[in-house]
Amino acid sequence: MIVPDSRRKWLAAAVPALLMLMLAPLALKRLGHLPQTPTATQAAAPTPSPAPASATAVAGSETPHIKINAAHAMQYVREVVAFGPRPIGSEAHRKLEAYLAAHLAGATVERDDFTASTPEGTFPIHNIIAKFPGSKPGVVVIATHYDTLMSVKNFVGANDGGSGTGLLVELANQLRGAKRSGYSVWLVWLDGEEAVRQWSETDSLYGSRHLAERWQKDGTIRQLKAFLLADMIGDADLNIDHDQNSTAWLEDLVYEAASKLGYQSHFFARGTAVEDDHLPFAKAGVPVADLIDFDYGYNNVFWHTPQDTLDKLSPKSLAITGEVLLETVRLLDQK
Ligand SMILES: [Zn+2]
Repeated sequence: MIVPDSRRKWLAAAVPALLMLMLAPLALKRLGHLPQTPTATQAAAPTPSPAPASATAVAGSETPHIKINAAHAMQYVREVVAFGPRPIGSEAHRKLEAYLAAHLAGATVERDDFTASTPEGTFPIHNIIAKFPGSKPGVVVIATHYDTLMSVKNFVGANDGGSGTGLLVELANQLRGAKRSGYSVWLVWLDGEEAVRQWSETDSLYGSRHLAERWQKDGTIRQLKAFLLADMIGDADLNIDHDQNSTAWLEDLVYEAASKLGYQSHFFARGTAVEDDHLPFAKAGVPVADLIDFDYGYNNVFWHTPQDTLDKLSPKSLAITGEVLLETVRLLDQK
């Protein structure tokens, strides 16, 4: 993901934040995610304190939340990264496609294949969609991107590309088997998210733009209740950003889910406007939420560099994101 002038935007956001921090501590709340609905969120929070992550059974009619196997998720990320740089058109990309297909055996898998024209020529693009049926009409999409940046040498994208890809493989483990009692869930590994040369409206988001258009043409888009995106969610220092391009009520629901699990301190302390795979779906009218931590190392220093490596990641961050995603789906089921 990203915007060409992201660093300037980042500074523009950070400087007023620091000023407010110094001058008006009480005003800090305004920088957070929830100035619009603080009371609603407080009301929704469990009392007196959120359930610990280790809780496996909750009293009353509450369904216990699904636990992500953090070690498995991390192992998948490790295996994905082991293929090396995985830009579109590469041999490692093809190997990763086969790896995903092997791990999705037994699920209903569809592909959205096409050829993209880019500033570096034409490339095959393959979006991969695994469908897990539910009893309720409607679909919740959980998406990530599995391609890695082409323009930086030796870029293995452990966090940017790898983390979401591995996490969704573990989510598939959680979703396969019995039919869900809520909405159908579709896991989508989007391709061609990265720019091949320099980020622009036309050089970026190849896979998501194509899939959103395809689903608009065939009517699928009307089935989508929400589009949840996970990108760069493996950072050991996990701080998911509030995103101005995401749908406010859906981010509120994500925060409610995080609060229920006791993970809210990892969510929405900072705000920014993110350009990522959720945009084509937002433009098509789908409620979207991008779960992204765009502060990867101090001042995002590891982003799009050869230093985006496994040692920066934590299995716990993968589990937090995965469990919050699944809890958000559960909350959507109840709406
Ligand atoms: Zn990227």
